[in-house]
Amino acid sequence: MDTEKQWQNEVLGQRAVAALNKNNFTALYFAGRAGAVAHILDLAPAGSGVGIGGSRTERVLELGLKLAAKGCTIYDHGKEGLSPEERLDLRRKQLVCDVFLSGTNAVTLEGELINCDGTGNRVAAMIFGPKKTVIVAGTNKIVRNREEADQRIKMFAAPLNNKRLGLDNPCVKHGECIDCRSPARICNATVILSRRPSLSDIHVILIGEDLGF
Ligand code: SF4
Repeated sequence: MDTEKQWQNEVLGQRAVAALNKNNFTALYFAGRAGAVAHILDLAPAGSGVGIGGSRTERVLELGLKLAAKGCTIYDHGKEGLSPEERLDLRRKQLVCDVFLSGTNAVTLEGELINCDGTGNRVAAMIFGPKKTVIVAGTNKIVRNREEADQRIKMFAAPLNNKRLGLDNPCVKHGECIDCRSPARICNATVILSRRPSLSDIHVILIGEDLGF
C-alpha cells in the first residue's frame, strides 16, 4: 500500500475510533488485518455461540472459519445448502447469541454506525440481544457524516451487496441505487447507532485497509 494511503487510513481511522469511544462504543484501530483478527478471536472464547451477520469483510478475513476452528458454535444463515426454514432459524439464533459478528455499511467521523438491511436481523442484533457485538470494518467505510453515509450506501454498499447476493434488483443494472420498489429490495430498515445502546456491549474494530463494500 502507498505510504500516503497508509497515513490517511491511520489519521481517519484514529479520528473515527476516538469519536466512537466518546459515544460509548469500545473502538480500536489496527493498521493491518493480522492484529485485528487476533483481537477478534480473543473476543469470542472457545465454546461461545457466534452469530454471523453476513458481510464480505467477515468472509475475506475468514472469521467464522477461524472461530469454528477454536471451538465456537457458528450461526451463519449465509451457508450454502440451507433451506429457508434453516436460514430463518439461524437468523433468530443470532439475536440471542454470545457474540454477534458483523460488518457495517458506514462509520462516520462523528462516531456513528449506519446500516441498511433488507430483513433487519443484522441491524436488530446490533441494537439488543447478543451478549457482545463485534463490528469489523476497513477504513474505506469511513465517511464524514450521516449524509455521506447515505450516499455511500446508495452508491456502493447496497448495489455491491445486491451483486454479491446474486439479486436481480434494478441497482445491478444501473450500478447505483434507484430507490426501487422491487419485492427483493434489500434496503428496508436503516439503523443509525448514534451512541452505544445502553444494554449492549459493542466493539468496533477498524482496520487500515480497504475491506468489503
Ligand atoms: S433500494 Fe432497490 S435499487 Fe436501491 S440499492 Fe436497494 S435494492 Fe438496489
